[in-house]
Amino acid sequence: MPHKRADHWEHIDVNDIAGCWNWTAALRAGYGQMWTKRNIHRYFYVDIFGEIPAGLDLDHLCRNRRCCNPWHLEPVTRRENILRGKTIPARNFAKTQCDKGHPLSGENLYTWNDDRGRSHRRCKTCAKATLKASLDRRKGPRRSGPIEAVV
Ligand SMILES: [Zn+2]
Ligand SMILES: [Zn+2]
Repeated sequence: MPHKRADHWEHIDVNDIAGCWNWTAALRAGYGQMWTKRNIHRYFYVDIFGEIPAGLDLDHLCRNRRCCNPWHLEPVTRRENILRGKTIPARNFAKTQCDKGHPLSGENLYTWNDDRGRSHRRCKTCAKATLKASLDRRKGPRRSGPIEAVV
């Protein structure tokens, strides 16, 4: 018997989009399970954001395996997922600094929503540095030799 989307939403306890969506039906290895035996969090992610890039796993940024909130999921490589699960508990979930250590808050924080409604956060200092580097490259003298690798 084909299941409709509503069947899955019935088993979700949604209090707030920012909070965890706890799956209240069957679990397998701590992950919510749906009738197709696929993990339910993948279902919700695909439903809202579209395909998961090939070869990537969904990492729970909130580290709550029964959570199905797509905003708490991020596609990562399997290796990265295992690594994070062991060593970085919830650090990425509420990142307060960029990879270079600039504060992700106040004036330095740039946030926007993409056309799929997904919100992004970006460090302004790093964004400017990237922009400047690409402008500098364009202004630079023309080279006839082999093109340098762009880092
Ligand atoms: Zn969550
Ligand atoms: Zn930065």
